[in-house]
Amino acid sequence: AKQEGKNCYRFFEPSMNEDLEEKLLLQNGLRYALERNEFTLYYQPEIETGSGNIYGFEALIRWISPEHGFIQPLKFIEILEETGLIADVGKWVIKEACEFAKEINSNGKTEVIVSVNVSPIQLTHSDFVDSVKQIIKVSGVSPRLIGFEITETALMESFSQNIEKLYELKELGIRIILDDFGTGYSSLNYLRKLPISILKIDKSFVDDLMNEEGSPLTASIVSLAHSIGLRVVAEGVETATQFEILKKYHCDLIQGYLISKPVPKEETKKFLNV
Ligand code: C2E
Ligand code: CA
Ligand code: CA
Ligand code: CA
Repeated sequence: AKQEGKNCYRFFEPSMNEDLEEKLLLQNGLRYALERNEFTLYYQPEIETGSGNIYGFEALIRWISPEHGFIQPLKFIEILEETGLIADVGKWVIKEACEFAKEINSNGKTEVIVSVNVSPIQLTHSDFVDSVKQIIKVSGVSPRLIGFEITETALMESFSQNIEKLYELKELGIRIILDDFGTGYSSLNYLRKLPISILKIDKSFVDDLMNEEGSPLTASIVSLAHSIGLRVVAEGVETATQFEILKKYHCDLIQGYLISKPVPKEETKKFLNV
């Protein structure tokens, strides 16, 4: 590579080394993070647009590392996937969320749904469905209170086995949510064949709702979803204007900083009558 001279130098820029170094450091820390109890789940409420009632919570993982501090998932999910650690961490997330769902629904009065993000890698593992069944059984939660959020890319054609697994989970009663809708490539026809019951519109479409004019594209996503029997959640709702427009479009559920940021488990009680 030396003879390539100057151009080659770019590969050894300090910033690149730092990135790599950071990644290796995180990778090392992540190996022991689960057994050292360094992961925690934050929960973000989703409300019903019409009534304002709590529909449920999305569980979002956080890593609180003694060495690295408070770390956002975008910094480490990919590393968990690359190292295969996502299998065990993913199971832990599901277990935690099931226990939380069981706990907050223990008064039997209301039904509050808890959704988790499922990585496509996790879904691909051969024991995925069995482990989910096992976790649900042990926790004693009703599967109807659990949602799995899957991104479009995880459901593309090459993942046909994943789709079969999701059908099996849906049969159990688990709600399947198509996450970040609009950022992938699924054709509308394909959408009908997926075992999903909820479509989550990506934040980028919500960002388009800046003034009363709204966005015909976002409006038609909502009506399209309704026409094939899906409920619709909008993520990343930050302003009252966005909320009003989504309400006008009959978007079923709203999630975003306007309602609340993701909060630790103890703080979710303020949203619930418990
Ligand atoms: P996501 O599933 O699309 O989650 C939504 C992200 O948007 C979350 O970031 C959430 O905190 C943030 N968010 C929510 N409302 C607003 C808002 O009004 N404005 C803005 N600017 N952001 C908002 P977070 O928690 O950092 O998670 C990032 C991504 O990491 C998630 O994106 C998801 O893909 C992944 N992730 C999080 N937890 C897990 C997990 O337990 N397992 C897996 N496999 N992936 C996870
Ligand atoms: Ca999600
Ligand atoms: Ca999302
Ligand atoms: Ca998103």
